Parts: sequence; C-alpha cells; structure tokens
Amino acid sequence: MTSPSTAAFLARRHGHWIDGAAVPEGSEGEIVVLDPATEAPIARIAAGGQAEVDQAVAAARRALNGPWGDMPHDERTRILLAFAALAEQHAGTITELAVLDNGMPWAIAESCAPFCAMFLRYYAGWISKISGQTLPSAALGKKPSQLHAYTQREPIGVVGAITPWNYPFGMEMLKIAPVLATGCTLVLKPAEDAPLAALLLAELASEAGVPPGVFNVVNGIGESAGAAVAAHEGIDKVAFTGSTEVGRHIVHAAAGNLKKVSLELGGKSPVLVYPDANLETAIPGVALAAFMLQGQNCVCGSRVFAHVSIAEQLARGVAEFAASLNIGPGTDPKNMIGPLISARQRDRVEGFFSSAAEEGARCMGGGARVGERGYFVAPTVYTDCTPEMRIVREEIFGPVMAIQTFDRETPEELAARANDTNYGLSASIWTQDLRTAHTMSRLIDAGQVGVNCHAAMDPSMPFGGFKQSGWGREFGADALELYLRTKAVTMAWD
Ligand code: NAD
Repeated sequence: MTSPSTAAFLARRHGHWIDGAAVPEGSEGEIVVLDPATEAPIARIAAGGQAEVDQAVAAARRALNGPWGDMPHDERTRILLAFAALAEQHAGTITELAVLDNGMPWAIAESCAPFCAMFLRYYAGWISKISGQTLPSAALGKKPSQLHAYTQREPIGVVGAITPWNYPFGMEMLKIAPVLATGCTLVLKPAEDAPLAALLLAELASEAGVPPGVFNVVNGIGESAGAAVAAHEGIDKVAFTGSTEVGRHIVHAAAGNLKKVSLELGGKSPVLVYPDANLETAIPGVALAAFMLQGQNCVCGSRVFAHVSIAEQLARGVAEFAASLNIGPGTDPKNMIGPLISARQRDRVEGFFSSAAEEGARCMGGGARVGERGYFVAPTVYTDCTPEMRIVREEIFGPVMAIQTFDRETPEELAARANDTNYGLSASIWTQDLRTAHTMSRLIDAGQVGVNCHAAMDPSMPFGGFKQSGWGREFGADALELYLRTKAVTMAWD
C-alpha cells in the first residue's frame, strides 16, 4: 500500500527540474514509468531532448557565475547538511519510490535515504578542506623574497551527469554530492527506466537551499537527452555511469569541446574461493555477491573460481541459499529477490539461460522466469563452466553465477584466469590465509578487491574500474578530483 505522500508524488505531472522549478512539459513526448513487479504504469514523465538540455545548461552556467561559485564554504556546508537531513526526513517516500521505480527489494530500498544522507554529510565535510598549496617556485631566476607561487583549486564548471537505473538514488547521489561540494553546477540526465529519484532529489536540494540553476534534471532517452548532454559545448565535464558500450559513445561525443570525461562502466567480477575459506560465511557472501539487486549490479560477482575440493559443496550451498530467498515484489519486505527492470532485460537474461544450456553448463538451480506478471527470474547457479562460454565472458546484469574450478595453479596462473576479461571493476577472495589474501589482492586487476567480503562500500573508499570498467574514481577524496581544476599562480616583484 503506497503512502499518501508517495501516491501524491507519483500522480503529479512530471518532466524536468530546471533553474529551480519543475518543468512539466517536454519536447520529445512522454516516458511511461512501469512498476517492474506488476508491469502497471505508475507515473508519466514528459521527455526532453536538446531544447531542455540547452535551457538547463544555460541555467547551470548562470548559477556557476552567480553566488554559488563564490559562496563561503560554511554556507555551502550548511546547505549540504540540510539536504542530508531532508533525505532522512523523506526516507519513507524515497524507499517506496525506489521499490516502485526500480523494483528493488524493500531491504535495499531502505538503504537509499541513509546512503544519500551519508554521502551528503561526507562531502559536506570536505567543502572547507578543498585548498591549494604554496610552492617553492624559483621561476624567472627570482629569489623566495621576490616571488609568491601557489595553486588554487577551482570548480571544473558545469557538469553533465548521465546515470543508470540499477540503484537510482545512490548512483545519482554519487555525482550530486561531490559536484555540489566542489562548487560546480549540474545537469543530470537520469535513466529513462527509473527517472523518479532525480526529480525528488532536486526538489529536496532546492528546499535545502541549493540556489536555482545549481542542480538541474533533464529527463529523456539516452540517444536524445543523453547524447545532447554528452556533446554539449556548454558543459565542461561529463560524468557517466552505465554500460561500457554507451561509455564509448560518450567519449566520442565529448570530443567536440574536449570536455573532461569520467566513466563508471560495466564489470564481470571474479570471486575466488579457496579450500580454507570459512564456507559458513562464504556461501551466503558469494551468493549475495551475485544475486544482490537481482544481479543488476556493476560489481556483480558473477564469475566464480572455486577450488576443486570445495566446488561442489559451494555450488550446492549457493543454490540452496538462493532457493531460500523469497522472490516477489519489493513492497513485501520478506521478498529478497525483486523483478528485473524491464521485459527487455528479462528477455536478455533468458537468452543467457539458453546459451548456457547450449554451451554445456550444468544448472544447479534457477534458470527460468518466475510467475506470470512482473519481470522476475530465479537466481541461477551454473557449474562445469568454461572460459569461452557467454555466461562467463559477458556482463549479464541478471542473477546468474558461473562457477569454474581451479586446482594446482600458481597464484600467477589463477590471477591470469581471473583477469581474462576486458573488465576490471571489483573482485573478491575468500580465504583464511594471509599470504593468499595479500598475494592475490596484488595480482588481481580490479579497482576494488574484497577479502572475505565482496564490494564493501564506504564513502571514504575510492571506487572505480581498471581496463574497460572506467576512467576515474568516485567515492572518497578521489571524487573531488573529478570536479576540480588546478590553477597555478605566480606573482613576481622586483
Ligand atoms: P546504459 O549504458 O544503457 O545507460 C546508462 C545511461 O546512459 C542512461 O541514462 C541512458 O539513457 C544513457 N544513454 C544511453 N545511450 C546514450 C547515448 N548514446 N548517449 C548518451 N547517453 C546515453 O546502462 P544501464 O542499462 O542504464 O545500466 C547498466 C550498466 O551500467 C551496466 O553495464 C552496469 O555495469 C553499469 N553500471 C556501472 C556502475 C559503476 O559504478 N561502474 C554502476 C552502475 C551501473
């Protein structure tokens, strides 16, 4: 049962948020938002394109050149803290919207508001610490008494952010919080499959005191509104989270004005389970690494390497654990596996079930859609997998685990197998042995490694990919670097 405040939000005529106000009209038709658990329409959004992006960029430029760019740090800090408090106050609506818009289980949806508040507070704390350096320059043959040289950190400018649908409040906040903290302004293009989170966040930001034009939202489809953001001459930097394929388009489109680009892209994360792992914790840990958010997760631990001596026990344990997870709408808190985002995504995942069967993988559980309504598929475990299988090579973005075995490989040989992918986002190693843990974390080619845990996230810990999983780091102080530029100032006198 949807609360009155969420129902009222859904019933509104939605579109964009530009220059501090809702814009309910759009130049490119309408997006009908479906609840992926019921396939029922829950909201309608006016879609925008170049025209709305132009308006949003103009507003963002005015705001950057206005008081926002020159606001004292304490004032900006107070605004971010007020925004965090509002996210907590609206936790109920945020949770419900996350469930209805994206389909995520209630327990994960409940993490969205605290996640937003935590990130806003973390980056609010950085605002007063962004500073340059005084440097010992001896340029121009000058002595220290004749020269003052320093750097200053400036906002990079107008940021275009393009985000995916898989954890909308979180993915958007990973851009919003550091963009606001660094004094930049933002044009956010959310995913068309989950466009509601950004609109609520923009309203809360405005209520918290973020001035008009600082945080704009343009809804629309990727090929139109997204492409307009990526190519816009008035945008100084584009921060993209999404598939590696679209990431390539972004890089090409950004070349026009050579805007700066950061990319958080796909993954095919390896999970190494050694014979000395504590299987009591490893079995649920490895299962959740693959099945959390129905596997619609860039860090999804879908490529498991289990030591031959424990592989069967692990596979059975994971399949039993998966079978114990209730599947159903996130509105019922007992369900731990929700629907996939769309019929298209469900059909894609079913295509992997077929290819796994054709290529000879052994299904230990799952491998089929669930129910008549909603885009549900069962969490699925395959063993007897080989490196050339599609389920081993391709990012599925569904709850599908492919298990391979290892035996007497050296650390280097096993790492070569684990690293045999174009991606390099996340990895985990399950062992009680310190030497194994250290050796393998050094050899694994991924931006994030967990030992006896998978994809542990904290605002302070940088996150991002090696190889074709991305450019740059979000989270932590590293994210500030994405939105700052350095100016070197040399002052000389006689
Ligand atoms: P997607 O690449 O299809 O879409 C992402 C965004 O790009 C959407 O807003 C979409 O509208 C937009 N877009 C699509 N085509 C565009 C174009 N030509 N120009 C500009 N914008 C365009 O990805 P998705 O299906 O929304 O999300 C799933 C992907 O995101 C997976 O590959 C996943 O691994 C990745 N992802 C990565 C991270 C990370 O932090 N590394 C986090 C979450 C998701």
